Amino acid sequence: MGESTCIFCRIGAGEIPAQFLHQDDTVMAFRDISPKAPTHVLVVPREHILSLAHITGDHGPLLGHMIEVLNQVASAEGLSGRGYRVIANIGADSGSEVDHLHLHLMGGRRLGSMG
Ligand code: AMP
Ligand code: ZN
Repeated sequence: MGESTCIFCRIGAGEIPAQFLHQDDTVMAFRDISPKAPTHVLVVPREHILSLAHITGDHGPLLGHMIEVLNQVASAEGLSGRGYRVIANIGADSGSEVDHLHLHLMGGRRLGSMG
């Protein structure tokens, strides 16, 4: 999927609306359109990186900033004290739907085991 048709690139460009919780030059966070938990937020780099499998050492600062934003959003959502889950899907077996790197931040209820 190219950048012009990528749904997360289009959200970043303001072409598709989203419920933003954070935006800066490199990272954005917005609510998942089909939430699986009371808090279900996607933390997304503006850069069209295909998945976590495409991360190299050069991406270290960007990845660090994504985690920083994720923790800030979790705190703002009241999750710091109770805990939360972070998921990244990679490839077919994961059921990945959008080929633009994103971290799922989920919380606000007992999420259960990963089984
Ligand atoms: P994944 O299966 O990891 O690729 O997750 C893609 C996620 O993007 C799913 O949880 C979808 O609900 C979510 N999603 C798809 N389109 C949108 C959108 N326009 N705004 C917000 N979230 C979206
Ligand atoms: Zn993209």
